[in-house]
Order: sequence, then C-alpha cells, then structure tokens
Amino acid sequence: MKAFRGEILSVPEDPAGAGAEAVRHVADGLLVVEDGLVVACGARAELAGRFADLPTERLDGLIVPGFVDAHVHYPQIECIASHGEQLMQWLERHIFPAEKAFADRGHADLVAAFFLDELLRHGTTSALVFATVHAGSVDALFEAALARDMRIVSGKVLMDLGPEGLRDTVASGRADTEALIARWRGRGRLGYAVTPRFVPTSSREQLADAGRLVAEHPDVLMHTHLSENPGEIAFVAERFPEAADYLDVYDRFGLVGPRSVFAHCVHMSGRALSRMAEAEAGIAFCPTSNMFLGSGLFDLALVDRHRVRLGIGTDIGAGTTLSVLHTLGEAYRTCQLRGASLDPFRALHLATAGGARVLGIGDRVGALLPGQEADFVVLDDSATPLLARRSAGASLHDRLFALQVLGDDRAVAATYLRGRRAHPPGPSGRMSA
Ligand SMILES: [Zn+2]
Repeated sequence: MKAFRGEILSVPEDPAGAGAEAVRHVADGLLVVEDGLVVACGARAELAGRFADLPTERLDGLIVPGFVDAHVHYPQIECIASHGEQLMQWLERHIFPAEKAFADRGHADLVAAFFLDELLRHGTTSALVFATVHAGSVDALFEAALARDMRIVSGKVLMDLGPEGLRDTVASGRADTEALIARWRGRGRLGYAVTPRFVPTSSREQLADAGRLVAEHPDVLMHTHLSENPGEIAFVAERFPEAADYLDVYDRFGLVGPRSVFAHCVHMSGRALSRMAEAEAGIAFCPTSNMFLGSGLFDLALVDRHRVRLGIGTDIGAGTTLSVLHTLGEAYRTCQLRGASLDPFRALHLATAGGARVLGIGDRVGALLPGQEADFVVLDDSATPLLARRSAGASLHDRLFALQVLGDDRAVAATYLRGRRAHPPGPSGRMSA
C-alpha cells in the first residue's frame, strides 16, 4: 500500500444534474492505493490517522482522474493537420490512403506505440479507439496497450463498401471480429467494440450482421459515427429513404443500445435524441474535429434537454489535438457559439467519469472512488508563464477553466496508471512521511 499526497479534484457525478455537491475537492488530500486500486481518497486531516505509516509520495499540482478519450482514430495520427477538405473528400484524399498502410503489421506496431505514448503524455489513460479494417491493426494496438497496462477499447473496422484496398466482406468482417474477441477477451484492461465505420461504408447485410455480433457478445461495445456532416447525412438519407433519420438506420439493424457510442451527433433531431436517451446510448462530442472539418456546432443544450449520456472525443486525425484538456476549451467555445455555457467542473466530469460511463467502464475508472483503478493525472497550472500568471491566487473554478483554455500536454506534469507513474519515464517523485 502507498499514499499520494496533494491537491485532489474529481467530479464523479454530472454537476448539471447533481449540482455543486458533484465536485469533490481537497486542498491537502491523500490518495491511498493498493494493488493498483484506490483504497481511500479524501482530506489528509481525516485519513492521516488511518494511514499514518504509509510510504507517501508528494505530488505538486492538481491531481485529477485520468482523462477518457471517447472517440479517436490511432491510424490517423500522422494525418493530423491535413488541409482543405470536408468529411467525405478528406476521407478519400487523406485518410483512406493512410489507413491502407496498416495492412503492414510492422507499420501498425510503430504507430500504435507512438499513439499510446502520446496519449499518456497528454494525460489520457482510457480511450475508445478506431483501428482500421485490418485485424492486425487491432492486434498491434492491443499488444501495445497491454504492455503499458492501459484501459483501451477498440475493434476492427467493418466497411464492406469501403474503397479498393480497405474493403472487407460480411463474412470476413464477422470472422475477424469473432477471432479478435476470442483472442483478447479478458486480457489486461482491454475491451472490444464492434466498429462499423459509418453507414456509407457498410452494406445492409453488414450492418445487420454487426447488430447480430453486438447481440451475441454482451461484453462488447458498438462504436461508430453519426450525423457529422451535411453531405454525409444527405448520402445516408438517399440510400435509406425508409428510415426516419440517420440514427434510425442504425436502429433498424439493432445497433442502438446502452453499449452504443456514436461520435459527433452534430445535426440531430429531437426524435433521434429522444430515442438515444431511451436506448441509453452515448455520444462522443468532438469539438476540434467538428471545427476543423467545418462539420457544424454540437448543440449541448439540445442534447441536455433529452438527457443523452455524453463523453468527450479528440477524434484525431480530424481533431487537432490529442489533449483532452485543450479539447474541453474548444468544447466551451463551441457552446458559446450555440448560446450555452459549459461549466469547467462539468467539462472535467465529461472528460473523466462521464466519458467512462459512456464507454461502460464507469465502475472501473474516472472518479478516484474506493475500489476504482488508480489512473490519475497531475496537472501543473503554472506550466507556462501565462498560465501561471492567470492561475496565481485564482479560485479553483478559474484555475480549472484556465487549464482548459490555456493548457495542453505542457500542463500534464505526470500520468499514473494503477498507481504507477507511466509518464514521464524515470524515477518517481519525492517521498515524505
Ligand atoms: Zn471519427
């Protein structure tokens, strides 16, 4: 058993529903960890007696739960900042050629290792990740995640209507998915997601089979894209004139349920959001990606009216940063343009416990509650001269907001996985009694 001493902040419940009590903050706190799990977390004055003789590591900075990235594509990391297109043309011109390279397992291994190390450097400890159509791209990611002990959920992309060289078939998509689930089930902290890319790249037969795969495996997620770009939505409406809307296409194939995570949901009807709430499906809000591709402005107030579960995604490579912290600043700006105001504590909730719930891992990570895995980040609110100046003497609310607006990987002093420092490498911090 070991203790970490420092300022600790977590937001286990959504302040939009639970109010100010949702925020847990101690200026001088103890986080007690045994075998990678949180034993206790609270004010040092209250816990010091119980844990008096424990070896204690002093952490300078704000300790928060590790970030949860609810939607990101690891094979697109090298395509970040690709200029000049909206969704469908951007996929054709930049993304599909890059994803073809993942037929080579060696390439996949190199990119997966780089990607996961970058996640840790940005304070992200859990993520729901798109791989490519190649089964080997998932093996590469899972092997690298297992070696780092990260909580990663991913799956082979189903896309039997994809471009030449990135196409599977209904049969091969099922066979690869089944083999991957069998190969990786129960290993480390990994999880599987049945992953149809989106409606335009799958046949009716494949969407139906994806629905069957989800039904046959109660421990897997369903991960896809929904209502991102007007051109995409028009394409789907033309192919499925019988469907009420884009969500309804997925629904007709059994793909809308409590284990479903839909990235984007920028252009949504009240009907679709009601249906999502009823089905307990989740949304990954990806503000930097929506801005970058000119997709539109996510409507948080509308989503809130329907009480749909929500997490935050960076959506690399259309997203412009792997920093969930910086993404929260972009989420704030998106909400401003929609006439809403995103509270910084709520933003932190969405990026931790809220996202974890959307990914079905809310009992394991996201809130530093006793029994949860001790994945956490130490934030430095004086990481840059400007951040230090803005944060000096400021309230917790203002410091947290400044971290979201001005912060990025520079503000992540350290990242811990199950109580062990994963970033930066090297000997850990100073010990004190
Ligand atoms: Zn995406």
